[in-house]
Amino acid sequence: MSYPRVEININKIKHNTSKLVTLCNEEDISVAGVTKVFCAYCDVVDAMIEGGVKFLADSRIENIKKYKDKEVPKLLLRLPMLSQVTEVVKYADISLNSEIETIKALSKEALNNNKKHKIILMIDLGDLREGILKEEEILKTVELITKLEGIKLIGLGTNLTCYGGIIPKEDNLSRLIDLKSSLENKYNLDLDIISGGNSSSLHLVKTKEIPKGINQLRLGESIILGRETAFGERLKDTYDDAFKLAVEIIEIKEKPSIPIGEIGMDAFGNKPTFEDKGIRKRALCGIGKQDIDVSDIIPDDKNISILGGSSDHLILDITDVDKNLKIGDKIYFKLTYGGILKAMTSEYVNKKTVR
Ligand SMILES: *Cc1c(COP(=O)(O)O)cnc(C)c1O
Repeated sequence: MSYPRVEININKIKHNTSKLVTLCNEEDISVAGVTKVFCAYCDVVDAMIEGGVKFLADSRIENIKKYKDKEVPKLLLRLPMLSQVTEVVKYADISLNSEIETIKALSKEALNNNKKHKIILMIDLGDLREGILKEEEILKTVELITKLEGIKLIGLGTNLTCYGGIIPKEDNLSRLIDLKSSLENKYNLDLDIISGGNSSSLHLVKTKEIPKGINQLRLGESIILGRETAFGERLKDTYDDAFKLAVEIIEIKEKPSIPIGEIGMDAFGNKPTFEDKGIRKRALCGIGKQDIDVSDIIPDDKNISILGGSSDHLILDITDVDKNLKIGDKIYFKLTYGGILKAMTSEYVNKKTVR
């Protein structure tokens, strides 16, 4: 298989998943494995299932469609688009919702197909991305939902640390539990799922401070990169290098560190600046900004530094590398969350699983 490519270690994903599933299970929390960062790549989905996730979740219906044959319940994370309700009812068992307009459309579509589509109502606890903020709107929405056929309200959910950077705490998450009991009493409901957020809620699980009653977390980054995302701390006994990027060298030359001639704009319309370090040995590699951002890749070899990139090229300074690198050699990088997202999305980057 040719390069560039992402090499995915399936054993490491399975290991990370099962560590986090065990941690969450101790607090009576089940895990929805979030598949969006790797575009629901089949072998990684399987590794999450083997690792013990109870749900599969993605923000894009196109990704959920890829695992339509898996037995695990499927959860659509991004609020459904009105233009996609047909696909949503067809491929997702559960969706996260906050708009009565959309819920009505889902109800109609489900009825037409003799289905019951399950929904989790999203509550905004202050991060100001999706969800209903005001108590009276929550009550009004739930009341309307209870009158709809084809739809079953199975729980409440929230999402934090995405837009506003708000950290999940005992006090904001407890509001979900309070709402659950008041809504259950008022409308005679069973709200079985209380979905308490994403990888940024994990620190509360670690310290056992997560409010009792939160019984689901939707975990992506923590499984893939072995870190919680409220403070960015590494999670004990997990891997952060299950996804690696390998790129191929196509030119090695010694060149000055300052371009020759009058400096105008680079390929992206910015005026670049340079530091004079004299003549340096540089490697040009076959990957570019179409596939990665140069700030999202971390060379395994600490002696390599990234000089920059254009749409299709990556330029590295290899002067200080001990090994004698040659044309055709491969350079390996660790990836950030954004790096995995972009490389997995690029059709120009091959994907290979290793064990
Ligand atoms: C992406 C997403 C998640 C997963 O977030 P991670 O930080 O990767 O764990 C959970 N819930 C929703 C609604 C999301 O969009």
